[in-house]
This record gives sequence, structure tokens and C-alpha cells, in this order.
Amino acid sequence: MKLPIVAYGDPVLKRKAVDIDPEYPNLDGLIQDMFETMHNARGVGLAAPQVGLSIRLFVVDASPFDDEDDDPILKTFKKTFINPQIIEESGEPWGFNEGCLSIPDIREDVYRKPKIKIQYLDDKFQEHIEEYDGVAARIIQHEYDHIEGKLFTDYLTPLRRARLKSKLDSITRGQIKVDYKMKFPSLRRK
Ligand code: ZN
Repeated sequence: MKLPIVAYGDPVLKRKAVDIDPEYPNLDGLIQDMFETMHNARGVGLAAPQVGLSIRLFVVDASPFDDEDDDPILKTFKKTFINPQIIEESGEPWGFNEGCLSIPDIREDVYRKPKIKIQYLDDKFQEHIEEYDGVAARIIQHEYDHIEGKLFTDYLTPLRRARLKSKLDSITRGQIKVDYKMKFPSLRRK
């Protein structure tokens, strides 16, 4: 089932999400729905707050990065991350043009460290500690920010953000064209 994606401006996107346990209701169904929602919107990552749930869960599928130039690891990089903790980030920050399904039609260069070490549970609640770099690390860092209540727009300079303000306001008000289902905060009271 495709779930509506929460738009920029919804307070759930600014909240720090909480850990879950294996008893979380219908977790398998939720994970399946999140993959379906992400694929339908042609995203490479989706975090639970983006479907309105403030829990530490995100899914990634980087297979759309299938250029010859891309890192071959991306083709098979499809995973569920539960209760993740980034243990370490290292290296010289590099810029990458990021977008977000909650912030359609806006892309901005964001600087992050290239290497991460992350501890997480998979969809069977098995623990893993893994290291990632490049675009795979970047996708994880972006989704991880979502469960920490952070958006890529938080990294922009005040000037850049001021220039984007009216565009961001239009997203919050639902005055945008988008070809997947979204939920807009200011329309909720109706
Ligand atoms: Zn995002």
C-alpha cells in the first residue's frame, strides 16, 4: 500500500524519533509499504517520519543509481535500518546535490563527511555494524537525519534558505505539482 508522504513544514519532520521493539504493530507490513511508497515516488531512501511515524526506521534502495560511473555497491544496496546509531563519521566533507521526497523540486548541495560507521538492526532485528562511504553513506546520512528531526535545508546558509522561503512555503501549503500522494500540514484542519 502506498502511503502519503508528509510535506515540508509538518512538525513530525522536526521531531527526534524513538527506538522500536519487535512488538511494534504490523512492522513487516509497514516496511513493505515504505518500500512501495519510495519506489512509486522514485526515491532512494524513505524514513518513517516522512510517512508520519516518529520512529527510528528507514529504508533505502539505491538501485536507480545504475550508471557505469556509479559505485557498483549501489546496485544491490537495498536495506532496512531499525534503531540505527551512526557511531563515527570521518573524512573531508564533500558536496552532493541532495533532494528529498518531503521537499519536492528543490535540490541543494550539502556537505557531509564521506565515511560512516553505523550500528543498526535489520528487519529481523539482527544487529549489524557496517561501514559505508560515498553515495551509499550519503543516502544513509540523509535518512538518518530524518529520524533525528533534521532536513537537508537545515544545512543551508541563512541567505540560501531565505531565497528558498517562498518555494518552501508553497510546498507546506500544497501549492505544488507532484506525481505521488502527499500530506500537507496546513490542510490538515479541514
Ligand atoms: Zn529526505
